[in-house]
Amino acid sequence: MKPGPMKLSILQAGYCTHPEHVVIRGGARKDIRFPAMFALLEHPGRGPMLFDTGYSEHFFSATRTFPYGLYARITPVFLEDSWLASSQLKARGIAAKDIETVFISHFHADHIAALHDFHRAQFVFFASAFEAVRGKKGFAALLKGFLPSLLPQNFAARVKPLNLSQRKALSLRYHPFKLGIDVLGDESLIAVELPGHAAGQMGLFVQTSEQLYFLVADACWLKRSYQENILPRRRAQLIFDDARAYRKTLATINQYYLMHPEVQIIPSHCQETLNHFL
Ligand SMILES: [Zn+2]
Repeated sequence: MKPGPMKLSILQAGYCTHPEHVVIRGGARKDIRFPAMFALLEHPGRGPMLFDTGYSEHFFSATRTFPYGLYARITPVFLEDSWLASSQLKARGIAAKDIETVFISHFHADHIAALHDFHRAQFVFFASAFEAVRGKKGFAALLKGFLPSLLPQNFAARVKPLNLSQRKALSLRYHPFKLGIDVLGDESLIAVELPGHAAGQMGLFVQTSEQLYFLVADACWLKRSYQENILPRRRAQLIFDDARAYRKTLATINQYYLMHPEVQIIPSHCQETLNHFL
């Protein structure tokens, strides 16, 4: 099948602050902003879809109780009503109920905080990403960056997990990523696994009529990280699911960047990258 003319909008729902030197070696000691990106995917044959959701007011209610409040202390969150994913979609003439699919890169709170707002959406993610947080509560959840109350009550009935066994060999334009899932069957969305930061983290290649984009979620935080293959400080790596897998994933994205400089790589929290779309 020929690629469909997918439309991609890169948007932001809130931000948190954190010292730069923690997320990239050699960074400044001052706090910088980490926007919470989400993406709107509009395919002519499907309803509108999202890749992650960014923050929402549900983050604040989810962190009101102990021990979840520690999450909000570590990453102070800034959000206004007009920044919500649902508000921004409304401004574009898209009702929250029209969103038919939300791709979840991984289950950290800054990526799933607005799932409650999309009542009719199905949730697509790598099965291993959910297995890592399923049923976790209290400190066990917090250690995984997971706030259980962010999942809608009927979450289990609305999931469409992807399994690694569904992966097929990818063409040279995706190498060194060799295996992926052609989600819609027309090569407009290719899901690949980017493990390390979180188990089963999903990256998504998005083919629009103009160009190929690669949404890499939290596989790296800044543009310079994948351009120069620079790791975060050890302190930041403590929150990773698997630091070795993180290094391997980052090195592969760095190789991909060097092989395909024309492809726009989009880390979820890189202000410099997002500025390009504002
Ligand atoms: Zn994140």
